[in-house]
Amino acid sequence: MIVVIDGPAGSGKSSTAKAVAANLQIQFLDSGALYRVATLLYLDVNKDLPQFFDTLRESEISFHFKNEKFHAYLNGRDVSDQIRSMEVSEHVSEVASNPDVRAHINDLMREVVKSDIYIADGRDLGTAVFPDAALKFFMVADLDTRAQRRYQEVKAQGKDVTLEEVKQNIAGRDEKDSNRDSDPLKKADDAILVDTSEMSFEEQVAFISEKIER
Ligand code: C5P
Repeated sequence: MIVVIDGPAGSGKSSTAKAVAANLQIQFLDSGALYRVATLLYLDVNKDLPQFFDTLRESEISFHFKNEKFHAYLNGRDVSDQIRSMEVSEHVSEVASNPDVRAHINDLMREVVKSDIYIADGRDLGTAVFPDAALKFFMVADLDTRAQRRYQEVKAQGKDVTLEEVKQNIAGRDEKDSNRDSDPLKKADDAILVDTSEMSFEEQVAFISEKIER
């Protein structure tokens, strides 16, 4: 069984899904993290596309969720911190717009979720990847709120960025993610819209947990 939360960058999907997963003792899948791991590979080969596809095919991308922490691994190496760098954030939408990359990540996700109960967050999970999900949410918030939240997160990780840089990055990614040809960021018709602009984190978690438990 799978529950999905889609929405633009910084809308609170990942942190909410993580807390819901911990509350309900289910698994959590951060699909954006997998695109970020693929982006690490792309940067590792200096953006050489043929070489990137070869390495992507040969590499093992995996993840593990425990104690409210999502760890992403590349060939067994924990790259959870590395995938949050500004360099990865700047290139991830370009990498994720490639249909072959999407097919690769989608296969991986569909295989993994067969074995347990999951809540996953992304951009196209309710429309393209898991159209039969048990429950779908689409989370939004205004740009200033999202930028401020993401800024606090990256600052807490000790990264040297300005609020303006974060704001430009998420606005740019939303634009690319919404306008790409393959599986753009989009609300599924049957997804429940959750506007978190005026909601506290606890309210978001309670709202989603209650719907799932019902
Ligand atoms: O969730 P996060 O902001 O970490 O996602 C990083 C990027 O991965 C997004 O901006 C988008 O380009 C891509 N992505 C995607 N489809 C998903 C999840 C993420 O294209 N399901």
